[in-house]
Amino acid sequence: MKIDNYDFAGKKAIVRVDFNVPLDENGKITDDTRIRGALPTLKAILERGGSLIIMSHMGKPKGKVNPKYSLSQIKDDVAKALGCDVKFAPDCANAEEAAASLKPGEVLLLENLRFYPEEEGKPVGIDKEDPAYDAAKKEMKERQKEFAKKLASYANVYVNDAFGTAHRKHASTAVIADSFSSDDKMLGYLMEKEVQAVDNILSDIKRPFTAIMGGSKVSTKIGIIENLMDKVDNLILCGGMTYTFAKAQGGKIGDSICEDDKLELALDIIKKANEKGVNLVLGTDCVAADSFSNDAKTQICSANDIPDGWEGLDAGPKTCEAFREVILPAKTILWNGPAGVFEFDNFTTGSRAIADAIVEATNNGAFSLVGGGDSVACVNKFGLADQVSYVSTGGGALLEAIEGKVLPGVAAVK
Ligand code: AMP
Repeated sequence: MKIDNYDFAGKKAIVRVDFNVPLDENGKITDDTRIRGALPTLKAILERGGSLIIMSHMGKPKGKVNPKYSLSQIKDDVAKALGCDVKFAPDCANAEEAAASLKPGEVLLLENLRFYPEEEGKPVGIDKEDPAYDAAKKEMKERQKEFAKKLASYANVYVNDAFGTAHRKHASTAVIADSFSSDDKMLGYLMEKEVQAVDNILSDIKRPFTAIMGGSKVSTKIGIIENLMDKVDNLILCGGMTYTFAKAQGGKIGDSICEDDKLELALDIIKKANEKGVNLVLGTDCVAADSFSNDAKTQICSANDIPDGWEGLDAGPKTCEAFREVILPAKTILWNGPAGVFEFDNFTTGSRAIADAIVEATNNGAFSLVGGGDSVACVNKFGLADQVSYVSTGGGALLEAIEGKVLPGVAAVK
């Protein structure tokens, strides 16, 4: 079932969106990309005579009510974006009356789903090592089913448009779907687009395929790095990971970020790349700083020979050139994770070089997919978001999809 061929007239649609937007200290939205991302689905349902029950999480309230994460703070922004009034249900698990009174064209926003531990379905206040943990987990899974049934009872049809949480089997992203027949559940437009973008990358890979993985740690990216090794021609590993690789190969990395327990893993990745014929590109030089700050003193040095008291915070000029060389001829490009501490304006050069090369390759016909909060923040910062083929709203979900894992949020409605 798809949005376009479903008759929403007179129906109540419960839509899982990702309104996990960043707020400033006054509760004002600082980036409304995620709200804008959900608008096509929400507007289509309203225009076609449906009413909307919108549900989302925000932040990590860990199963407790916390006004800091209340979705009431964004109600007016959602109303403005939709161009109509939005009612608010202050308790997502007790909204049956508010939902029942909705008329076609009306909108109800539910309070943060994660104010209930049932949303994530993880037992709270009990350690994994505790002998009673398994029983607590089982009990919580039962409570999660009941919670999901309650949400489902508000509506006739379920739409999942929250790609950012599609890799989680939560009450609102997956379990809820069990309460709807296959004709009454579907993906929203944003989800469809995201799934399509991953499909574009995986189903018909135009070569060369260059993946660029950056960010601070190897440990959080190891699954995708190993998986990509079977698919890509070139694999650029950059950002803080550079120094774990440099140290593993006997380099001197000063005070640079490093995962000492991942040195073996780094050597293993190098070996696997060799065995599989993947061109692994690691930084050779770097911009080293005498402190972790935008105003630090800097020097260009070898990534394998950084003086004590200095740390590599950005890719050096030779490295940028090497990245550019493998990105430019690519026909398929995936970018996840910055090449330096791009939050500091003085350490954006590596990430900028990558973004510029991706834009150039895209202009030459490559399909480029940029995903994960930080790389998306980079292309936004550089004003280049509309010059790549696709900017994904998913971080973890995108990587898991590219790893070939079935996303519970997608599987539940398909
Ligand atoms: P991750 O959460 O692992 O994707 O990493 C993203 C973060 O990595 C960003 O906040 C960057 O500032 C940080 N990062 C990138 N390069 C470095 C580096 N050389 N040293 C420390 N942090 C870095």
